[in-house]
Amino acid sequence: MSPTYVLRKTFTATALMLAAWSVHSADAAPHWAYAGDHGGPKQWAELDPKFEACAKGTRQSPIDIRGAVKSELPALEFAYGSTEPTIVNNGHTIQVNFAPGQSVKVGDKTYELLQFHFHTPSEEQVAGKHAAMVAHFVHRNAAGELGVVGVLIQPGKSNAAYAPIFAHLPRAGEKITVDDLKLDLPAMLPTEKGYYAFEGSLTTPPCSEGVNWMVLKKPITLGADQIKTFRRIYNANARPIQALNGRIIKESM
Ligand SMILES: [Zn+2]
Repeated sequence: MSPTYVLRKTFTATALMLAAWSVHSADAAPHWAYAGDHGGPKQWAELDPKFEACAKGTRQSPIDIRGAVKSELPALEFAYGSTEPTIVNNGHTIQVNFAPGQSVKVGDKTYELLQFHFHTPSEEQVAGKHAAMVAHFVHRNAAGELGVVGVLIQPGKSNAAYAPIFAHLPRAGEKITVDDLKLDLPAMLPTEKGYYAFEGSLTTPPCSEGVNWMVLKKPITLGADQIKTFRRIYNANARPIQALNGRIIKESM
């Protein structure tokens, strides 16, 4: 038996109506999208002066991961446990938000997990190939630096660790919080934690740089039905590949 989940609308019906009305109001975030000539990736920088890095940045993400240099990278020491996060459809992806308490230590830096979310196909490529999906685990350290762990996802065995999320995907346009959602975070990662490391940016506006990217080399699997369930909500939400501009990609031994 599955536990009883309590679905709670985080926005009242009135707030949702206002959100629909306020697309062009002064305080609304500019509308951006993953495709098209109206707010698609090529126009992101034109939508708001704050999005300038999307066009002018030189260390942008995602990238095609190739030519990585084998390096003595610090191990990723995950201090993840069972948690009760909230799940949101933010209009661009499905995002799972966390209270403080989940972290990853990389060398002398400790990052707290803020949220993870999905893209399909995977935003990053490895040797020119996208995975079916990727989960980006977004962390921040005390100095305010972001550290994003990418978990590539290929079709295969259905994944029980992700099932609680796929059982409660909010519909497009909905902002729903699922209370008492229990996740076994360690089980959501591959057993092997070897990774690629490189500098990059947020892959959504404002495309801010200074993000430490760590993409796990070993993919996990989701069932074809789980991938299909996500794609019914977001069929394609990946920013195009960005130029490497001489950045070095490191790869753990
Ligand atoms: Zn992402």
